[in-house]
Amino acid sequence: MKVKVKVWDGHGLPVGETLECGRKALKIGFWKWIKLKTSGVVELMSYRNPSWKNSLVFHIVRCKRHGYFIDHVHGYSESVYGMSEGFTCPKCWNNSTKN
Ligand SMILES: [Zn+2]
Repeated sequence: MKVKVKVWDGHGLPVGETLECGRKALKIGFWKWIKLKTSGVVELMSYRNPSWKNSLVFHIVRCKRHGYFIDHVHGYSESVYGMSEGFTCPKCWNNSTKN
């Protein structure tokens, strides 16, 4: 069983379908979805852009203000935006750099 989740993808990963609102619709396994609902973060996939040295593990994370987004773990010092430590919501990031 798969569940559809709408996410913000600031990294342009080759997954899901892009929606008119700018978000993407992803299908994830039921247990991943449960984990996302209960903990606010779940592992999505490992991905390596051809220009990157190493592959990164991407997660779906919940932002209190914008809903779900995709990100990989950042260093601790960058974790001021979004809800979960170590992740940066692309919408919060945009808002903070506009001012
Ligand atoms: Zn946000």
